[in-house]
Parts: sequence; structure tokens; C-alpha cells
Amino acid sequence: MGRENIENWHVRKCAKACDGCEVEFQHKQALYSRLVFEEGEYLRKDFCEKCWKAEGHGLSTWKTVYIIPPPPADEAVKKENAESLLRKLMAKENEEDLNAIFILTVMLERKKILVERDIQQAEDGRKLRIYEHKKTGETFLVIDPELKLDELEHVQDEVVVLLGGKSRNAEPEPEVETPESAENNPATSDSD
Ligand SMILES: [Zn+2]
Repeated sequence: MGRENIENWHVRKCAKACDGCEVEFQHKQALYSRLVFEEGEYLRKDFCEKCWKAEGHGLSTWKTVYIIPPPPADEAVKKENAESLLRKLMAKENEEDLNAIFILTVMLERKKILVERDIQQAEDGRKLRIYEHKKTGETFLVIDPELKLDELEHVQDEVVVLLGGKSRNAEPEPEVETPESAENNPATSDSD
């Protein structure tokens, strides 16, 4: 497998100091982050407010807060959860895991563990979503596989299995109404 795109879904920690003036960030200090593509990889740049204002900021930037990350929990006894699975899959850097990575990211966004900061177009034309971990300040770069609804359900099912739950496919699946089927329903069509 080619490794040319693997940097797209790495996790990026916040810098300890400003990229401009090199003054160390203080806990809970407001700062500005951006993602730049340089020499074949994505780099996260973090600036203090002063430098960000002085620099002129045409590029996509988001405002955030510097956080001294809490010490990691006791990984040995910790059960697999959506976050630990996401980190594991990201570290494996397999193209085949992209769909599951995306689903886990969405799950963590719903749980308010991750927050979306930006959307960019990756070098290969795919949609790159940039999430920030609210507790650690890390940046997660996630390729949006732009799944269709039926694919989405399939991948969700795979993720549930990976998390130790039971696959819905283990039992006969009931007919589920999807937003797609609503399109074919003349009763909902009120245009023209
Ligand atoms: Zn600065």
C-alpha cells in the first residue's frame, strides 16, 4: 500500500509555544491554529493572538485555547471505547479503516469530545475535516469518505462490532425508513 496520503489523518498536538514569537503558551490562553500543507505533510501552526493579528491571516484559521493535557488514564485497565479505537485505527494508517475512522469521529463529535474546527480540501481532492479534542487540544485530521446512506449503515454496524457490541445483521433487519425513501413519496412533494 502506498504511504503518500497517510499524513492526512494523523493527530496533531498543539505547539507548546507560539509559532511567531516563540513565547510559551499559558494554560487556557486563547490562541489561533491553522493547518498548512508543506513539503508533503500537514503541519499545525499555533499563534498567540498578537502574532496572529500582526501576521495577516488570509488562510483558514480557527480560534482555540491552549490546554495542558491531563495525564493519560490507566490504559491497561481501560475498556475499548470510541476514542481509544479511533486512536488505534489512526495509528495503523490503513486506507481501509478510513470509513470506520470517520464514523468514530462523528460519534465522538456527538458526545462533545471532539469539535469540528475546519474543513479543507486535501491534496488529493478529498474532503479533510479538522477536529479538535476538547480535553487535550489535539487536532485530528480526518478524511470524509462522503459515504452514501446505505454505506453509512454498513460501516456503523462494523464499528459497533469493533466496540464489542452486537451486529444488527446478526438478526433479521426490519425495514428502516430512510430520508432517501422520503424522496419517492409524493405526499411530501410540495414543490411547483
Ligand atoms: Zn506570538
